[in-house]
Amino acid sequence: MRQLNVVNVPGQHKNAKRYFDPTWVVNLCFVIVMVFSTMLTWREVIVLEGAYGASQRSALANVSNALDMQMQVGIDRLLFFRHTMQAALQTPLDLNILRKRHDEFDSKRALPQWRVGVDNPRTLPVYGVSDYFVNQTDLLNRDNDALHNELTAAIELGYLFRLSSHALLAPRKSWYVSRAGFFISTEAVNNEQDIVPTYYHLLMHPWFSGQQLHENHGRGVRWFTDLAPKSPNGSNVVASVPLDYNGYWFGVVMMSFPVDAITQLLIGTQQGVQERERGEYQLYDTNFKLLTSTLSTSAADRTFNRKERALLEADMARDTIGGMRLGSRYVSWQKLKHFGGVLLRIHTLREGIIGDFGRITIAMFILWLLFMAMLLVAWGVIRRMVKNMYAMQRTLQWQAWYDPLTRLCNRGALFERAKTISKLTRSQKLPFAVIQLDLDHFKNVNDRFGHQAGDLVLSHTAGLISSTIRDQDVAGRVGGEEFCILLPGSTLLQATQIAERIRQRIGSKEMLIHKHTTIRISASFGVCDALEEGNYDFEYLQSVADRRLYRAKNNGRNQVCSSDETPNT
Ligand code: GH3
Ligand code: MG
Ligand code: MG
Repeated sequence: MRQLNVVNVPGQHKNAKRYFDPTWVVNLCFVIVMVFSTMLTWREVIVLEGAYGASQRSALANVSNALDMQMQVGIDRLLFFRHTMQAALQTPLDLNILRKRHDEFDSKRALPQWRVGVDNPRTLPVYGVSDYFVNQTDLLNRDNDALHNELTAAIELGYLFRLSSHALLAPRKSWYVSRAGFFISTEAVNNEQDIVPTYYHLLMHPWFSGQQLHENHGRGVRWFTDLAPKSPNGSNVVASVPLDYNGYWFGVVMMSFPVDAITQLLIGTQQGVQERERGEYQLYDTNFKLLTSTLSTSAADRTFNRKERALLEADMARDTIGGMRLGSRYVSWQKLKHFGGVLLRIHTLREGIIGDFGRITIAMFILWLLFMAMLLVAWGVIRRMVKNMYAMQRTLQWQAWYDPLTRLCNRGALFERAKTISKLTRSQKLPFAVIQLDLDHFKNVNDRFGHQAGDLVLSHTAGLISSTIRDQDVAGRVGGEEFCILLPGSTLLQATQIAERIRQRIGSKEMLIHKHTTIRISASFGVCDALEEGNYDFEYLQSVADRRLYRAKNNGRNQVCSSDETPNT
């Protein structure tokens, strides 16, 4: 038998097309809106964080520039002192008073300690040690052609040392320490016995020994830290520069800067800055040792652990200015141009939150939360609305096509479907059978058992019809207790057999209509086929099937009639 190759006929309940669930679209739209608005807010936060970092660095830059300027004054002065010494070595002053100092030196140079000075309060005395001391010490040498000139130059430098002004970061102390066993200092040596220990002390420090040629190839300024928290003078940072002339290393010019003065300068830059914008400034030396802080350095949340130090140092190795978040703190840093160290600005989370950027971030977060809450509420409401509308649409669609009592196609749907099937089978020259079915004496059922019982019988019969026909067949209720079945691809014989099967099933079933009442009913059938009739018009086919149904009725009901001729008996 040729198979009908179209199964999905629209409106058929068994093969009802699966509808696209619109709640998925709603979900997808809301998820997209959520994701994008979150991404947008996140982006804003990142931009804001960048601006915060920039503002932190610019605050730091202001302070570090102020400090740098002060340092520059000191460094300039140190270089000026060296230059003075070099100029004095190049063109020594030839004064009688100075020549006398040479003689005095020559007479005292063998003494364990000595002092040579111009009797003038505007310069500083020269303190020295013995030839023996010099010979015993590797770094020192007194057999130099320019020895007298160096002495004169040192006395000249003494004039300048005295003239050092007393600005905020003015050097607390300046020295010229010669390799020829003498030194001058802004700090007077009151006791003769102290000359040797003082000179020895100056030699031992890295700011002297660190100026040997192999330790300072560039011959520029080097910074050293003199951490002495217990000393009454406090800690100092020391800048030192070697004095070279004609390829010979004469000695070292040094200056010490009190850390206290640096601290005061850092604190001073914070005047007029709002409390919440202040943060903390910390100054570190070249070995990343803390020199000073604008706050008490003992506070635990102000120091760095080893991991944080490593992160900072790695960052500092790459650049001269930068910033990073370390836990809840934001740390910006800048290397100073005129100081061998780095200035850090630390802003805690609490300071960040009460600051402008923190408040904007919190406002943005609250707005985002509000937006998300509104979005979730809207999502819920719209989802429910769409779900209800979708369910309603499906119900209405179903009601438009189906008979609610029997759940078979209604008359209109059946005619639509019949038209389609008729066209299809005609084009493929396939048989198309129609069965017309009417329950026998149905009026009696209603009269005897009531309308409800009648309804039960109708739905029961519809169930029997549906379960007997094939998937491609379509059953519909065309009248009160009249049904029509479309059988595309079925010949008259096949359709008659199906009708016969339905008749037998209806007739053999006891139908329960009340608690204890069952009835048995029968039905009459009229069958015809389009191929046999030579006409695919459904209305015509139905009229033929109807005529045969009435023949069946007239012949005594409960039978199938598939021809207009009286069968030979
Ligand atoms: P026959 O067809 O064998 O000649 O007898 P009949 O009693 O079935 O004949 P008729 O067509 O006159 O009766 C049909 C009855 O079906 C009339 C009406 O009361 C009943 N009917 C029509 N629609 C419904 C319905 O939806 N529910 C119920 N319970 N009865 C219905
Ligand atoms: Mg009837
Ligand atoms: Mg009837």
